[in-house]
Amino acid sequence: MFAVIGAGPMGLATARNLKKYGIPFVGFELNADVGGLWDIDNPHSTMYESAHLISSRHMTEYAEFPMKEGAPYPHHSELRDYFRSYAKHFDLYENYRFNTRVVNIVKSGNKWLLTSDKNGVEATDTFDGVLIANGTLHKPNMPSLPGYFDGKLIHSADYCSADIFDGKRVLVVGCGNSACDIAVDAVHRAKSVDLSVRRGYYFLPKFVAGRPVDTLGGKTPLPRPLKQKVDAAMIRMVVGKPSDYGLPDPDYKMYESHPVINSLVLHHLGHGDISPRGGIQDIQGKRVIFSDDSSAEYDLILMATGYKLDYPFMERELLNWKDGDAPSMYLNCFHPNQPGLFMMGMIEATGLGWEGRNEQAEMVALYLKQRDAKAASALKLQSKIESFRGERMDGGYGYLQLERMAYYVHKETYRRAITQHIRELKSDLNASPELQASRV
Ligand SMILES: Cc1cc2nc3c(=O)[nH]c(=O)nc-3n(C[C@H](O)[C@H](O)[C@H](O)COP(=O)(O)OP(=O)(O)OC[C@H]3O[C@@H](n4cnc5c(N)ncnc54)[C@H](O)[C@@H]3O)c2cc1C
Repeated sequence: MFAVIGAGPMGLATARNLKKYGIPFVGFELNADVGGLWDIDNPHSTMYESAHLISSRHMTEYAEFPMKEGAPYPHHSELRDYFRSYAKHFDLYENYRFNTRVVNIVKSGNKWLLTSDKNGVEATDTFDGVLIANGTLHKPNMPSLPGYFDGKLIHSADYCSADIFDGKRVLVVGCGNSACDIAVDAVHRAKSVDLSVRRGYYFLPKFVAGRPVDTLGGKTPLPRPLKQKVDAAMIRMVVGKPSDYGLPDPDYKMYESHPVINSLVLHHLGHGDISPRGGIQDIQGKRVIFSDDSSAEYDLILMATGYKLDYPFMERELLNWKDGDAPSMYLNCFHPNQPGLFMMGMIEATGLGWEGRNEQAEMVALYLKQRDAKAASALKLQSKIESFRGERMDGGYGYLQLERMAYYVHKETYRRAITQHIRELKSDLNASPELQASRV
């Protein structure tokens, strides 16, 4: 019996694949329903009222469960409904214990003791393995600011509605996708909106030539250096350089960091609705002094400074997390020397979507089934896992040394490796023709 932690997009894909391959499991979810952070009522959700998908609908959906037709970038509430339909369609609700938080996991011999808490009552269950899908975007990264700020300071994790900006002088710190979404939200509510940005970013509009930007490009991917050049040139032609809007230009190549996908932030910078600022040098009361010695007063600082990986129910060393910003796992999910532990969804990539996560889940479920059957394909994968020495699936891209990039993968390289493993695991699978033929 296995345990799955979380019923977000990754936990659900994990549950679906375990079920598909007949592997018994119990799911644990601290929220009352499925959907993960796409359920804005989930206490762990970092969603905000205005949020829509950043990747487009059909590039993000699970291949075997397409979304209904609709606008290419649906609102978060539509995603919550989609995950509920997915869980109903594949009968996943019956496997989950809701309102149940996993609080501790320890090893006992070859087994795993998992303690969970439901309404203050703790219970401990024994499992053959644990599949951790508790999400990567819920523990705020809150860098300390120099000086003393005499106003309201919040992290984007606690941002829900633009009401908080009414009549305020707002400084948004950071320039990732959430920072840009939130700065845009503030434009029509705040007295002023400034964006503090320390490094350069690539900005992609959501649409090019009327099509979602992530649907562009031919079926055969260009070689990496050419793709970096061609895409950067195309984006420069469409939106110009960040410095045309007062922002720093990136001093790295395209795709070496996660790009910003937002059609409105440059528009508002170009209209003076959002003012670009440098890094923060000092804060004195309400006055913030920036790296170029300019300064301004603010009532509210919103830190859109990202998230840290967080597994509060488990010792770091069990996670093969000695140093660095992320546990070190083969294909971001297989522990090299804990055969019962799987990190599900500890992964980030441009455009991986839920199908990329589903493939990861299928590979793990198949591996469990085939390992149980002592199939040659599973033994082969097992020896690969055991000989893992920290190699990354970066496709040759020189990713920036940022916390968030510690578990970043190159989508095509990653999916190629996974589909190859799936194919091999299926090659000696003793199963019904439908399972044999499904997908890869
Ligand atoms: C504003 C925003 C926009 C985004 N847009 C996109 C996009 O366009 N495309 C894209 O691919 N990704 C996007 N993402 C990334 C997002 O992380 C993924 O879409 C997806 O939600 C990841 O799924 P997950 O299941 O790994 O994590 P989550 O959705 O975070 O789900 C984790 C689940 O685990 C539960 N849980 C956590 N700890 C415990 C515990 N101890 N016990 C029991 N249950 C627990 C949580 O309650 C939650 O339900 C976006 C994220 C944000 C915040």
